[in-house]
Amino acid sequence: MGVDPTLGNRLDAVPAAVVPWTGTAEKGRKAAPVQENQAPAAEESRTPSAHDLDVLSRQLGRPVRDVVEIPARCVCGNPLVAATAPRLSNGTPFPTTFYLTHPVITSAVSRLEAGGLMNEMNDRLTVDAELAGAYREAHEAYLRARDDIAGRAGTGDVPEIAGVSAGGMPTRVKCLHVLVGHSLAAGPGVNPLGDEAIEAIAEWWTKDRCYCAGAWETAGEAPSKDLSRHGPQGLPEIVGRPAPVRKSQASSEGGTTTESGTATEEGKLTEEGTA
Ligand SMILES: [Zn+2]
Repeated sequence: MGVDPTLGNRLDAVPAAVVPWTGTAEKGRKAAPVQENQAPAAEESRTPSAHDLDVLSRQLGRPVRDVVEIPARCVCGNPLVAATAPRLSNGTPFPTTFYLTHPVITSAVSRLEAGGLMNEMNDRLTVDAELAGAYREAHEAYLRARDDIAGRAGTGDVPEIAGVSAGGMPTRVKCLHVLVGHSLAAGPGVNPLGDEAIEAIAEWWTKDRCYCAGAWETAGEAPSKDLSRHGPQGLPEIVGRPAPVRKSQASSEGGTTTESGTATEEGKLTEEGTA
């Protein structure tokens, strides 16, 4: 299914995040020099502009609220991922910090989900201790990144969701969109399964190219009300909303794809707090 044949080797190896740097220079540098455009966004490009918010609304088909940063961008500058503060302006705790917003990526990831990749990953997590350890580290990294965002956004601690990340972490894979959003925001080597999913969508999206043309409606006003079909996918019940309708692992095998494929499934980025 388009998975890079080298992937198995890479996942068998020590997680990239802890591979010792064998070079002689730039000890503190995190990104490997062979990979480009993957560092977390610089300070000035993190802050969402009015244009970013307009694009996000168009990407998602609904107005966005409580987006505090743009942690990953297309090579053209458009948002790929939106970061939401862990407490919304209406006070609701919000654990899913990183939302994948780009419709080309979200639908490509939905294809992976429909193809059963999550089941395969979950199976591997039960037998591959190294992968499971790296995935747990990804969970910890997610929580640290969320704390950092909370600090920058001034929302403070959110004890209701302490230790709760998203997407099934630290032991399961329940939403690949969440993992890909995390990987794009954090850069490679942080979330092994998010990285793997990004490689697996390479026939539809790669980070070195712009896929924005025609990916969302650019004419007219940005959505001012929610016209999308979506559910709060990726969010645990803790948010206080109905859990998303989700197929069980067993029943998802038979090729009965559902709404979980739509580009706007990520739900709730926004209208918490709309009147
Ligand atoms: Zn673009």
